[in-house]
Amino acid sequence: MDKELYEKYEIIDAHAHIFPEKIAEKATVNVGKFYDLHMDSCGMSVKLIEGGSTIGVSKYLVCSTATVPHQVRVINSFIAEECGKHPQFFGFGTTHPQSDDIEGDIAQIKELGLHGVKLHPDFQEFDADSPEAFKIYEIIEGELPLLIHCGDPRYDYSAPAKIRKICENFPKLKLQAAHIGGYQRWDEAEELLTGFENLSVDICSSLAFMTPERAAERIRKFGVEKSFFGCDFPMWNHEEELERFFKLGFSETENRMILAESFKNFYNI
Ligand SMILES: [Zn+2]
Repeated sequence: MDKELYEKYEIIDAHAHIFPEKIAEKATVNVGKFYDLHMDSCGMSVKLIEGGSTIGVSKYLVCSTATVPHQVRVINSFIAEECGKHPQFFGFGTTHPQSDDIEGDIAQIKELGLHGVKLHPDFQEFDADSPEAFKIYEIIEGELPLLIHCGDPRYDYSAPAKIRKICENFPKLKLQAAHIGGYQRWDEAEELLTGFENLSVDICSSLAFMTPERAAERIRKFGVEKSFFGCDFPMWNHEEELERFFKLGFSETENRMILAESFKNFYNI
C-alpha cells in the first residue's frame, strides 16, 4: 500500500486476538472453521505486530476469550505478560459466566493492569442478556469497559436485541460492540443499537461484506466519534482492511477519528 495514504494518520487496531504460541496455530484453525473464513495469519503477538507494522499501527487492543471457565486466569496472565513485552498492546482480560469466582476473575484483571473485559457469547455459549451474564456486567459497570462480540445469523447468543438489553440495563457500562454491532446482522444492529450513550462499535470483520456506501452509512448512524478501526487479527490482513476502510469515502477528519481519536476518547487514553 502507498505509504503516503496512511502515514499521516495515527492508526489503532481496536480488535485483535492473540494466543499463546503453543496453541496459536490450532486456535487460529478453529476460529477459521467456526466462521468458515480464511485466516490471514496465525494468532501470535509477533505476527500481529508484523501485520500491523505494514500500515503503521501504534496501538492494539488485544484479547482472547476463555471457552471454558478454568482457562480464564491463565488467559488473563498470558495477555498481561504479552502487554509487558509489547508496550503498544492495550490488553483486555476475560471471564466466563460459568466461572465460580467472577469477582476473583475481575479482581485479577484489575491487578494485572488490564483495561477491560472481552466476552464472546457465541464461543462461550451464553446468552448476552442472561442472569449469569448480567452478574458480570453488574460487577464491572463503571469499573471496566466491555468488548463484546456481537451477532451471528447461526446463533442467538449475541443477537443485537440481547446486546440492547445490556445497554438498557447498564447505562454506566462502557461497551464496545464488535463488528458494527452484529456480524452478518447489520440491519438489526443498526435498528436496535444506535443512539446509546455508552455504546461504541468497532468496524472489523464487516467491511468485506457490504458496499462502501452501506458501511459508511452504518458507521455514521453509530457516529464516527463512536466507531473504531480494527482488523480482528488473525482474520484479516491489515493492509487490505485499511484499503477497504479508505474506500468508505470519509473526510480526513473522520478518518482521523475512526482510525484512532474515537478510541482514545472512549477509553480516556
Ligand atoms: Zn474478538
